[in-house]
Amino acid sequence: MIRISDHDVTDILDRKNAPAAYCGSGDIVVFETRDCYDNSLTSEERPLGDREDTLENPATGPLYVRGAKKGDVLKVEILQIALRSWGAMRTSTSGGEFRERYRERIARIFPLKENQIVFDDKLTLPVNPMIGVIGTAPEGEGVPTHTPGEHGGNMDCNKITEGSVLYLPVNTDGALLAIGDIHARMGDGEVLICGLETAGDVTVRVTVLPNSVLPTPFLSAGGRVMTIQSAPTLDEAAHLAANRMYDFVKSVSGKDDVHTGMLMSLVSDLVICQVVDPLKTVRSEIPEAVLAAYGFCLP
Ligand code: CA
Ligand code: CA
Repeated sequence: MIRISDHDVTDILDRKNAPAAYCGSGDIVVFETRDCYDNSLTSEERPLGDREDTLENPATGPLYVRGAKKGDVLKVEILQIALRSWGAMRTSTSGGEFRERYRERIARIFPLKENQIVFDDKLTLPVNPMIGVIGTAPEGEGVPTHTPGEHGGNMDCNKITEGSVLYLPVNTDGALLAIGDIHARMGDGEVLICGLETAGDVTVRVTVLPNSVLPTPFLSAGGRVMTIQSAPTLDEAAHLAANRMYDFVKSVSGKDDVHTGMLMSLVSDLVICQVVDPLKTVRSEIPEAVLAAYGFCLP
């Protein structure tokens, strides 16, 4: 099996990045990831980390998928997310919904034991491992790994988890997939500024889909499908996500605008992925069964 070491990291997704590994369509690849603090936050005594030369949100890769060409879609099946034995969180004085409440950055470290987070003396929470940063090389200029966009990137969608399937655009030969910033758990919104940040191994199967009509970034998870869109404001991100799904549902069903709008209002849910990155991210979810009713099967 192909493994990409966590020595091969970048803080920018860029079609000029040299591949860290090569694979074929249908191959299984393991990405060894660092946490979003570049594995430098190891003690509550040193909330700013152990080193100064840390990358922000490092992503492992990129992976060059042979045969992937601009205009294709890359299907990424998330087979496994194997977590490290601990995670970290840190408050922010400048970002997140509670920033006015903190005067300094405080870090906490939480052990992960048997898929549980021992949060305090009263509360234990189950892990829900998810991937914060997953993307292909964007079109045009490179995009830092703290920013989400049409290429994926820092979407911080907690449905990108084991068993889900993410569809990403191919903007350059090989697609150049990179993965990082995994969370042991995160609520929708990522309201503080972070999830339970951790490192670990992400195992994926990558498949090149030529001639795909899917509106990327597109996710299938738990019997639902989702368009994921990012913009400077939540209003704009919601508008983009809802309309991306609308166009897709309309093309699949062959129905008119009135019918499509009514259907969307009955079956689609708008959900906030995150409010803390340079662009905000919203997803539009519908049951996969709606597509199936019109004869559409996911590739
Ligand atoms: Ca993130
Ligand atoms: Ca994160």
